[in-house]
Amino acid sequence: MKILSVNCGSSSLKFQMYEMPEEKALISGVFERIGIDGSFYTIKINGEKIKKEAELKDHKKAFEILIDELKENKVVESLDEIKGIGHRVVQGGAYFDKTVVVTEDVIAKIDELSALAPLHNPAAIVGIRAAQAVVPNAVQTVVFDTAFHQTMEEETYLYAVPYEWYTDYKVRRYGAHGTSHKYVSLRANEILGRTNTKLITCHIGNGASISAVRDGKCINTSMGLTPNAGLIMGSRCGDIDATIVPYIMEKTKMSPKEMDTALNKQSGLLGISGVSSDSRDIEDGINKGNERCLLAQKMYVRRIIDYIAKYYVELEGCDAIIFTAGVGENSISTRREVMDGLKVLGVEVDPTSNDVRGKETLITTADSKIPCYIIPTDEEVMIARDTYALV
Ligand code: ADP
Repeated sequence: MKILSVNCGSSSLKFQMYEMPEEKALISGVFERIGIDGSFYTIKINGEKIKKEAELKDHKKAFEILIDELKENKVVESLDEIKGIGHRVVQGGAYFDKTVVVTEDVIAKIDELSALAPLHNPAAIVGIRAAQAVVPNAVQTVVFDTAFHQTMEEETYLYAVPYEWYTDYKVRRYGAHGTSHKYVSLRANEILGRTNTKLITCHIGNGASISAVRDGKCINTSMGLTPNAGLIMGSRCGDIDATIVPYIMEKTKMSPKEMDTALNKQSGLLGISGVSSDSRDIEDGINKGNERCLLAQKMYVRRIIDYIAKYYVELEGCDAIIFTAGVGENSISTRREVMDGLKVLGVEVDPTSNDVRGKETLITTADSKIPCYIIPTDEEVMIARDTYALV
């Protein structure tokens, strides 16, 4: 059965098609600059990458081209072969603790939650509408980044602010990257050969979050109401003293929107280093003796260690620590520095096996009290799995 995983941004559409249940990836690609001049798309098939320019006035046009490409590349002969389309949605609030089939009520709830994910939820709705128009017979599903974290206890997800902020405005912790945390924790359980496990999963990319997962269920996660909480990220500040916000707004006369931009786009590695949000540039800066890059990296690593230590205590131990996403899979030095900082817990990095990028690997020694693994994440396949199950 053919299932399509879709991830729509405001001006992009990423897709991957699978033969299910074999989980065989057939074709993938990304449409970029939708609704903007200079739009184009790239497709990967049979190990080959093809780039084409095309006028993409909206997401519907992108879907139409996508279907044409599927036919042209003989991935499908007719539209009816596509039985399910799974859409990634960033914010599912407290409404959704699992993947669901799209209905008008579901779309209304995603729309209502747009206030909590203003860049992402509206884009997902545009994508769903476009897919419904172009492939009307496929079952459409929505996979929420927040769903995996819905198992957190009230005492964990609430903030110690006036309770009415929660009841009136839904202010609480929802987390993010849930699909990724779930994927790597399932895979870790396969590696460990059991499901009654205590895992700490570190999704460290441009955005970054850490989860504590007990027996396959999330009990805590570092992201909050929005994806700007917890870890220091590429350009997001993560946890800060909340009173910094009114203090600086008063001092500089910043508007709420400008403050939001400063905290989300001008902070994190970029804010401290003044160089870049990309950890590769930070590594380069450190190698060239840039002190602020070094400082940014130290702060970045410190925060990851803090969260792992916190979750180790909360889980009352840990059977494995998992590194995933852009930095987690690829930054040898960041992983090493984090693991070195966890020596007190008996973590012992194996420098030879850690000298690897993007490959599932045990990166600690046989004596390490907690094994650490790189497990490349695969959010697309999780979307396809859930969608296949619902179809
Ligand atoms: P996103 O949150 O945008 O999905 P990714 O998970 O793709 O992000 O991570 C992107 C980040 O991964 C880059 O900004 C960069 O910091 C980091 N990264 C990618 N490749 C490497 C590498 N070889 N070494 C160090 N960091 C890397």
